[in-house]
Amino acid sequence: MKYVLFFLLLSSCIQANATVTNVGKTTIKSSNKEKIVIAHRGASGYLPEHSIAAKTMAHAMSVDYIEQDVVMTKDDQLVVLHDIYLDRVTDVAAKFPERKRADERYYVIDFSLAEIQTLAMTEGFSLKDGKTAANFPQRFPLWQSTFKVHTLADEIELIQGLNHSMGKDIGIYPEIKSPAFHLNQGKDITKAVLLELKRYGYVNKASRAIVQSFDPVTLKRIKYELFAELNMQLKLAQLIAMTSWQETPIYLDEPTQQTITQQLRTQKAKLIFYDYDWMLTPSAMTEIAKYADAIGPWKPMLVNVDANTNKASSNGLVEAAHEAGLFVHPYTFRADEGRIPEFAKDFDDLLRIYYFELGVDGVFTDFPDKAVNFLQKID
Ligand code: CA
Repeated sequence: MKYVLFFLLLSSCIQANATVTNVGKTTIKSSNKEKIVIAHRGASGYLPEHSIAAKTMAHAMSVDYIEQDVVMTKDDQLVVLHDIYLDRVTDVAAKFPERKRADERYYVIDFSLAEIQTLAMTEGFSLKDGKTAANFPQRFPLWQSTFKVHTLADEIELIQGLNHSMGKDIGIYPEIKSPAFHLNQGKDITKAVLLELKRYGYVNKASRAIVQSFDPVTLKRIKYELFAELNMQLKLAQLIAMTSWQETPIYLDEPTQQTITQQLRTQKAKLIFYDYDWMLTPSAMTEIAKYADAIGPWKPMLVNVDANTNKASSNGLVEAAHEAGLFVHPYTFRADEGRIPEFAKDFDDLLRIYYFELGVDGVFTDFPDKAVNFLQKID
Protein backbone atom coordinates (compact mmCIF):
# COMPACT_ATOMS: atom_id res chain seq x y z
CA MET A 1 0.00 0.00 0.00
CA LYS A 2 2.80 2.34 0.91
CA TYR A 3 4.29 1.48 -2.44
CA VAL A 4 1.10 2.37 -4.32
CA LEU A 5 0.77 5.61 -2.38
CA PHE A 6 4.32 6.53 -3.30
CA PHE A 7 3.61 6.13 -6.99
CA LEU A 8 0.30 7.97 -6.72
CA LEU A 9 2.14 10.84 -5.10
CA LEU A 10 4.82 10.60 -7.72
CA SER A 11 2.40 10.72 -10.64
CA SER A 12 0.63 13.74 -9.18
CA CYS A 13 4.01 15.45 -8.95
CA ILE A 14 4.69 14.61 -12.56
CA GLN A 15 1.38 16.05 -13.67
CA ALA A 16 1.90 19.14 -11.57
CA ASN A 17 5.23 19.71 -13.25
CA ALA A 18 4.24 18.76 -16.76
CA THR A 19 3.42 22.29 -17.84
CA VAL A 20 6.73 23.59 -16.57
CA THR A 21 8.87 20.88 -18.09
CA ASN A 22 7.20 21.14 -21.47
CA VAL A 23 8.01 24.78 -22.08
CA GLY A 24 10.38 24.95 -25.02
CA LYS A 25 11.92 21.62 -24.14
CA THR A 26 11.22 19.54 -27.18
CA THR A 27 14.57 19.84 -28.93
CA ILE A 28 16.76 18.63 -26.08
CA LYS A 29 15.02 15.47 -24.97
CA SER A 30 15.38 12.07 -26.54
CA SER A 31 12.41 10.21 -28.00
CA ASN A 32 9.36 10.58 -25.78
CA LYS A 33 11.19 11.19 -22.54
CA GLU A 34 10.68 14.38 -20.60
CA LYS A 35 13.77 14.11 -18.47
CA ILE A 36 17.34 13.32 -19.41
CA VAL A 37 20.28 11.50 -17.83
CA ILE A 38 23.84 12.72 -18.38
CA ALA A 39 26.60 10.22 -17.58
CA HIS A 40 29.04 12.33 -15.56
CA ARG A 41 32.57 11.40 -16.76
CA GLY A 42 30.95 8.17 -18.05
CA ALA A 43 29.63 5.51 -15.69
CA SER A 44 32.22 6.84 -13.27
CA GLY A 45 30.63 5.27 -10.19
CA TYR A 46 31.71 1.88 -11.53
CA LEU A 47 34.84 2.37 -13.66
CA PRO A 48 37.63 4.98 -13.65
CA GLU A 49 36.26 8.38 -14.71
CA HIS A 50 36.74 9.26 -18.38
CA SER A 51 38.11 5.81 -19.28
CA ILE A 52 36.87 4.35 -22.55
CA ALA A 53 35.45 1.50 -20.46
CA ALA A 54 33.38 3.96 -18.38
CA LYS A 55 32.05 5.57 -21.56
CA THR A 56 31.17 2.21 -23.11
CA MET A 57 29.35 1.18 -19.94
CA ALA A 58 27.42 4.47 -19.86
CA HIS A 59 26.38 3.92 -23.48
CA ALA A 60 25.10 0.44 -22.63
CA MET A 61 23.01 2.01 -19.85
CA SER A 62 21.06 3.98 -22.47
CA VAL A 63 21.73 7.41 -21.08
CA ASP A 64 20.82 10.50 -23.10
CA TYR A 65 24.22 12.19 -23.03
CA ILE A 66 27.77 11.16 -22.11
CA GLU A 67 30.03 13.86 -20.69
CA GLN A 68 33.57 14.67 -21.83
CA ASP A 69 35.87 17.06 -19.97
CA VAL A 70 38.41 18.33 -22.46
CA VAL A 71 41.95 19.65 -21.93
CA MET A 72 44.81 20.28 -24.37
CA THR A 73 48.27 18.71 -24.57
CA LYS A 74 51.62 20.35 -25.33
CA ASP A 75 51.26 19.24 -28.96
CA ASP A 76 47.73 20.68 -29.24
CA GLN A 77 45.84 17.41 -28.97
CA LEU A 78 42.48 17.34 -27.19
CA VAL A 79 42.29 14.73 -24.45
CA VAL A 80 39.44 13.71 -22.17
CA LEU A 81 40.45 14.42 -18.56
CA HIS A 82 38.69 16.24 -15.77
CA ASP A 83 41.67 18.21 -14.47
CA ILE A 84 44.22 20.43 -16.19
CA TYR A 85 46.63 18.24 -14.15
CA LEU A 86 47.58 14.59 -14.62
CA ASP A 87 48.42 13.71 -11.03
CA ARG A 88 45.02 12.80 -9.54
CA VAL A 89 44.31 9.90 -11.93
CA THR A 90 47.64 8.75 -13.42
CA ASP A 91 51.12 7.56 -12.40
CA VAL A 92 52.75 10.68 -13.89
CA ALA A 93 54.60 11.49 -10.62
CA ALA A 94 56.37 8.10 -10.75
CA LYS A 95 57.09 8.15 -14.50
CA PHE A 96 58.05 11.83 -14.95
CA PRO A 97 59.06 13.04 -11.44
CA GLU A 98 61.11 15.96 -12.78
CA ARG A 99 58.27 17.42 -14.86
CA LYS A 100 56.20 19.01 -12.09
CA ARG A 101 55.81 22.76 -11.90
CA ALA A 102 56.66 24.91 -8.85
CA ASP A 103 53.19 24.22 -7.45
CA GLU A 104 54.01 20.46 -7.41
CA ARG A 105 51.38 19.74 -10.09
CA TYR A 106 51.89 17.96 -13.42
CA TYR A 107 50.12 19.95 -16.12
CA VAL A 108 48.57 18.26 -19.15
CA ILE A 109 49.83 21.11 -21.37
CA ASP A 110 53.45 20.30 -20.42
CA PHE A 111 53.19 16.78 -21.91
CA SER A 112 52.76 15.47 -25.44
CA LEU A 113 49.93 13.08 -26.24
CA ALA A 114 52.48 10.30 -26.79
CA GLU A 115 53.92 10.87 -23.31
CA ILE A 116 50.47 10.99 -21.72
CA GLN A 117 49.52 7.73 -23.39
CA THR A 118 52.43 5.95 -21.67
CA LEU A 119 50.74 6.66 -18.31
CA ALA A 120 48.54 4.27 -16.37
CA MET A 121 45.16 5.79 -15.51
CA THR A 122 43.08 4.86 -12.49
CA GLU A 123 40.36 5.98 -10.11
CA GLY A 124 40.86 9.40 -8.52
CA PHE A 125 43.22 9.27 -5.55
CA SER A 126 44.93 11.42 -2.95
CA LEU A 127 48.33 10.95 -1.35
CA LYS A 128 48.23 9.77 2.25
CA ASP A 129 51.55 9.10 4.04
CA GLY A 130 53.28 8.83 0.68
CA LYS A 131 50.79 6.21 -0.56
CA THR A 132 47.87 6.59 -2.94
CA ALA A 133 44.42 6.34 -1.30
CA ALA A 134 41.21 6.08 -3.32
CA ASN A 135 38.93 9.12 -3.07
CA PHE A 136 35.94 6.73 -3.32
CA PRO A 137 37.02 3.45 -1.62
CA GLN A 138 33.86 1.57 -2.69
CA ARG A 139 34.45 2.26 -6.37
CA PHE A 140 36.71 0.42 -8.85
CA PRO A 141 40.00 -0.52 -7.12
CA LEU A 142 43.05 1.69 -7.66
CA TRP A 143 45.56 0.63 -10.31
CA GLN A 144 43.56 -2.48 -11.21
CA SER A 145 43.35 -3.55 -14.89
CA THR A 146 44.62 -1.22 -17.65
CA PHE A 147 43.18 2.19 -18.48
CA LYS A 148 44.68 4.97 -20.62
CA VAL A 149 43.96 8.60 -21.36
CA HIS A 150 42.23 8.97 -24.76
CA THR A 151 41.51 11.82 -27.16
CA LEU A 152 38.21 13.58 -27.75
CA ALA A 153 38.22 12.09 -31.27
CA ASP A 154 38.66 8.57 -29.85
CA GLU A 155 35.66 9.07 -27.63
CA ILE A 156 33.40 10.61 -30.26
CA GLU A 157 34.25 7.74 -32.61
CA LEU A 158 33.41 5.26 -29.85
CA ILE A 159 30.03 6.87 -29.12
CA GLN A 160 29.13 7.30 -32.79
CA GLY A 161 30.25 3.71 -33.47
CA LEU A 162 28.10 2.38 -30.65
CA ASN A 163 25.19 4.53 -31.78
CA HIS A 164 25.53 2.80 -35.16
CA SER A 165 25.88 -0.76 -33.89
CA MET A 166 23.30 -0.41 -31.11
CA GLY A 167 20.78 1.63 -33.10
CA LYS A 168 20.89 4.48 -30.57
CA ASP A 169 21.40 8.23 -30.76
CA ILE A 170 23.23 9.05 -27.56
CA GLY A 171 24.60 12.58 -27.39
CA ILE A 172 27.85 14.13 -26.23
CA TYR A 173 28.17 16.85 -23.60
CA PRO A 174 31.76 18.20 -23.82
CA GLU A 175 33.08 20.67 -21.25
CA ILE A 176 35.87 23.04 -22.25
CA LYS A 177 38.10 23.04 -19.17
CA SER A 178 39.69 26.31 -18.03
CA PRO A 179 39.60 27.98 -21.47
CA ALA A 180 41.14 31.25 -20.22
CA PHE A 181 44.01 29.34 -18.60
CA HIS A 182 44.64 27.47 -21.87
CA LEU A 183 44.54 30.65 -23.95
CA ASN A 184 46.85 32.41 -21.51
CA GLN A 185 49.29 29.55 -22.06
CA GLY A 186 49.00 29.98 -25.83
CA LYS A 187 46.38 27.31 -26.53
CA ASP A 188 43.01 28.17 -28.09
CA ILE A 189 41.23 25.10 -26.74
CA THR A 190 37.79 26.60 -27.34
CA LYS A 191 38.20 26.90 -31.08
CA ALA A 192 39.91 23.51 -31.26
CA VAL A 193 37.00 21.78 -29.51
CA LEU A 194 34.45 23.43 -31.81
CA LEU A 195 36.45 22.44 -34.90
CA GLU A 196 36.60 18.85 -33.67
CA LEU A 197 32.85 18.79 -33.05
CA LYS A 198 32.25 20.20 -36.51
CA ARG A 199 34.55 17.56 -38.04
CA TYR A 200 32.33 14.88 -36.50
CA GLY A 201 29.10 16.42 -37.72
CA TYR A 202 27.89 18.36 -34.68
CA VAL A 203 27.02 21.62 -36.38
CA ASN A 204 23.60 22.90 -35.33
CA LYS A 205 21.12 22.99 -32.48
CA ALA A 206 19.52 19.76 -33.66
CA SER A 207 22.86 17.98 -33.23
CA ARG A 208 23.14 15.68 -30.24
CA ALA A 209 25.77 17.82 -28.56
CA ILE A 210 25.72 20.40 -25.79
CA VAL A 211 28.87 22.42 -25.06
CA GLN A 212 29.40 23.35 -21.41
CA SER A 213 31.78 25.68 -19.63
CA PHE A 214 32.14 27.42 -16.29
CA ASP A 215 33.55 30.44 -18.13
CA PRO A 216 30.84 32.91 -19.22
CA VAL A 217 33.27 35.03 -21.24
CA THR A 218 34.18 31.99 -23.28
CA LEU A 219 30.54 31.03 -23.78
CA LYS A 220 29.84 34.55 -25.10
CA ARG A 221 32.88 34.31 -27.35
CA ILE A 222 31.49 31.05 -28.76
CA LYS A 223 27.98 32.41 -29.14
CA TYR A 224 28.80 35.80 -30.67
CA GLU A 225 32.06 35.19 -32.52
CA LEU A 226 33.15 31.59 -33.03
CA PHE A 227 29.79 30.21 -34.15
CA ALA A 228 29.66 32.84 -36.89
CA GLU A 229 33.28 32.28 -37.86
CA LEU A 230 32.91 28.49 -38.02
CA ASN A 231 29.38 28.50 -39.43
CA MET A 232 27.96 26.36 -36.67
CA GLN A 233 25.47 26.73 -33.82
CA LEU A 234 25.31 24.33 -30.89
CA LYS A 235 23.47 24.35 -27.59
CA LEU A 236 25.49 25.92 -24.77
CA ALA A 237 25.36 25.28 -21.03
CA GLN A 238 26.57 27.73 -18.40
CA LEU A 239 27.99 25.79 -15.48
CA ILE A 240 27.73 27.57 -12.15
CA ALA A 241 30.34 27.20 -9.40
CA MET A 242 30.60 28.60 -5.92
CA THR A 243 32.88 31.63 -6.07
CA SER A 244 34.87 30.20 -3.15
CA TRP A 245 35.97 27.20 -5.25
CA GLN A 246 38.07 29.51 -7.44
CA GLU A 247 36.91 27.38 -10.36
CA THR A 248 37.43 29.80 -13.24
CA PRO A 249 40.62 31.81 -13.67
CA ILE A 250 40.16 34.93 -15.72
CA TYR A 251 42.94 37.25 -16.85
CA LEU A 252 41.86 40.84 -16.68
CA ASP A 253 43.02 43.79 -18.69
CA GLU A 254 41.62 47.26 -19.20
CA PRO A 255 38.27 47.16 -20.99
CA THR A 256 38.66 47.77 -24.73
CA GLN A 257 36.53 48.03 -27.83
CA GLN A 258 38.03 44.83 -29.21
CA THR A 259 36.14 41.62 -29.83
CA ILE A 260 36.09 39.06 -27.03
CA THR A 261 38.58 36.94 -28.99
CA GLN A 262 40.99 39.87 -29.36
CA GLN A 263 40.63 40.82 -25.72
CA LEU A 264 41.31 37.28 -24.57
CA ARG A 265 44.42 37.14 -26.75
CA THR A 266 45.87 40.45 -25.61
CA GLN A 267 44.95 40.41 -21.97
CA LYS A 268 47.68 40.68 -19.39
CA ALA A 269 48.19 37.86 -16.97
CA LYS A 270 46.54 39.50 -14.01
CA LEU A 271 44.87 36.46 -12.61
CA ILE A 272 41.64 36.66 -10.69
CA PHE A 273 38.88 34.13 -10.17
CA TYR A 274 35.43 34.66 -11.60
CA ASP A 275 32.76 35.80 -9.15
CA TYR A 276 29.61 33.69 -9.64
CA ASP A 277 27.50 35.30 -6.92
CA TRP A 278 25.36 37.24 -9.40
CA MET A 279 24.32 34.00 -11.12
CA LEU A 280 22.69 32.64 -7.98
CA THR A 281 19.73 34.97 -8.19
CA PRO A 282 16.55 34.30 -10.18
CA SER A 283 16.97 37.61 -12.05
CA ALA A 284 20.29 36.39 -13.47
CA MET A 285 18.53 33.78 -15.58
CA THR A 286 17.33 36.19 -18.26
CA GLU A 287 20.91 37.46 -18.58
CA ILE A 288 22.33 33.94 -18.97
CA ALA A 289 19.56 33.01 -21.43
CA LYS A 290 20.94 35.63 -23.84
CA TYR A 291 23.96 33.45 -24.57
CA ALA A 292 23.18 29.97 -23.21
CA ASP A 293 20.50 27.29 -23.58
CA ALA A 294 20.98 25.60 -20.22
CA ILE A 295 22.46 26.08 -16.78
CA GLY A 296 24.48 23.47 -14.93
CA PRO A 297 24.31 24.48 -11.28
CA TRP A 298 25.75 22.64 -8.29
CA LYS A 299 22.68 20.82 -6.95
CA PRO A 300 22.55 22.54 -3.51
CA MET A 301 22.20 25.87 -5.33
CA LEU A 302 18.60 25.01 -6.24
CA VAL A 303 17.14 24.25 -2.83
CA ASN A 304 16.28 25.71 0.53
CA VAL A 305 16.35 23.14 3.30
CA ASP A 306 14.00 23.79 6.21
CA ALA A 307 16.02 23.53 9.43
CA ASN A 308 13.04 22.20 11.40
CA THR A 309 11.46 19.72 8.98
CA ASN A 310 14.67 18.93 7.04
CA LYS A 311 12.65 19.19 3.85
CA ALA A 312 14.07 20.60 0.64
CA SER A 313 12.07 22.99 -1.53
CA SER A 314 12.83 25.13 -4.54
CA ASN A 315 14.50 28.48 -3.90
CA GLY A 316 13.04 29.75 -7.17
CA LEU A 317 16.08 29.30 -9.40
CA VAL A 318 14.63 26.40 -11.44
CA GLU A 319 11.39 28.29 -12.06
CA ALA A 320 13.27 31.44 -13.07
CA ALA A 321 15.51 29.45 -15.41
CA HIS A 322 12.50 27.82 -17.08
CA GLU A 323 10.78 31.17 -17.33
CA ALA A 324 13.85 32.43 -19.20
CA GLY A 325 13.78 29.37 -21.49
CA LEU A 326 16.80 27.64 -19.96
CA PHE A 327 17.10 23.93 -19.29
CA VAL A 328 18.38 23.03 -15.83
CA HIS A 329 20.99 20.23 -15.52
CA PRO A 330 22.42 20.17 -11.98
CA TYR A 331 25.52 18.21 -10.91
CA THR A 332 26.61 15.77 -9.43
CA PHE A 333 24.30 12.97 -8.29
CA ARG A 334 26.34 10.38 -6.40
CA ALA A 335 24.99 7.27 -4.69
CA ASP A 336 28.17 6.67 -2.66
CA GLU A 337 27.92 6.37 1.09
CA GLY A 338 27.74 9.81 2.68
CA ARG A 339 26.99 11.58 -0.60
CA ILE A 340 23.20 11.68 -0.37
CA PRO A 341 21.91 14.85 1.32
CA GLU A 342 20.00 14.31 4.56
CA PHE A 343 16.78 15.68 3.10
CA ALA A 344 16.53 12.60 0.84
CA LYS A 345 15.73 9.09 2.11
CA ASP A 346 17.89 7.39 -0.51
CA PHE A 347 19.22 7.93 -4.03
CA ASP A 348 15.84 7.35 -5.72
CA ASP A 349 14.26 9.85 -3.35
CA LEU A 350 16.98 12.36 -4.22
CA LEU A 351 16.25 11.87 -7.92
CA ARG A 352 12.51 12.22 -7.27
CA ILE A 353 12.99 15.48 -5.39
CA TYR A 354 15.15 17.04 -8.12
CA TYR A 355 13.38 15.68 -11.20
CA PHE A 356 9.80 16.01 -10.01
CA GLU A 357 9.55 18.34 -7.02
CA LEU A 358 12.03 20.92 -8.28
CA GLY A 359 11.41 20.06 -11.93
CA VAL A 360 14.95 19.92 -13.28
CA ASP A 361 15.31 18.71 -16.88
CA GLY A 362 18.30 16.44 -16.42
CA VAL A 363 20.99 15.42 -13.97
CA PHE A 364 24.72 14.79 -14.20
CA THR A 365 25.29 11.52 -12.37
CA ASP A 366 28.13 9.09 -11.68
CA PHE A 367 25.49 6.32 -11.44
CA PRO A 368 23.57 6.74 -14.70
CA ASP A 369 21.93 3.28 -14.55
CA LYS A 370 20.16 4.31 -11.34
CA ALA A 371 18.75 7.48 -12.92
CA VAL A 372 17.73 5.66 -16.13
CA ASN A 373 15.99 2.93 -14.07
CA PHE A 374 14.31 5.52 -11.87
CA LEU A 375 12.86 7.36 -14.87
CA GLN A 376 11.77 4.08 -16.50
CA LYS A 377 9.96 3.01 -13.34
CA ILE A 378 7.77 6.09 -13.39
CA ASP A 379 7.28 6.19 -17.17
CA1 CA B 1 32.61 18.34 -16.20
